[in-house]
Amino acid sequence: MATERTLSIIKPDATRRNLTGKVVDRLETAGLRVVAQKRLWLSQKQAEAFYAVHKERPFFGDLVKFMTSGPVVVQVLEGANAVAKNREVMGATDPKKAAPGTIRKDFAESIEANSVHGSDSPENAANEIKFFFSDTEIVG
Ligand code: GDP
Repeated sequence: MATERTLSIIKPDATRRNLTGKVVDRLETAGLRVVAQKRLWLSQKQAEAFYAVHKERPFFGDLVKFMTSGPVVVQVLEGANAVAKNREVMGATDPKKAAPGTIRKDFAESIEANSVHGSDSPENAANEIKFFFSDTEIVG
């Protein structure tokens, strides 16, 4: 199995409820290693740029508002098939549809305030990691 890296974000609904450690525990228990991590408060410009792919979606404005409503924790996760593994641990976008035992099933408040982000392909992971981290900040 290929060792990969993926970008994870612990979203403002989760940091607000002090769930950072609980989310990290789920990730580590699933075999993912946190090889970079920082807490920051996204500017509107950063959130718009990060979610640019969704700019035509009707929820774009609300999503940007939510993602700038409090601090986030951005992380690089490393492990075997990290992109797919992280998506599996996260669960479906809508917590009502997420499988039992997933982060979103157990912690998300709504389809928008769904506690975590994870890259959806190795290509997007590489770009999203570069968006937040320089090479020297990632220590595997
Ligand atoms: P993800 O890859 O599972 O995070 O899902 P998407 O890439 O489709 O959507 C990005 C993010 O936009 C989601 O994680 C949610 O925070 C938000 N989002 C997705 N669908 C909706 C929606 O129908 N309404 C609202 N308000 N937010 C949504």
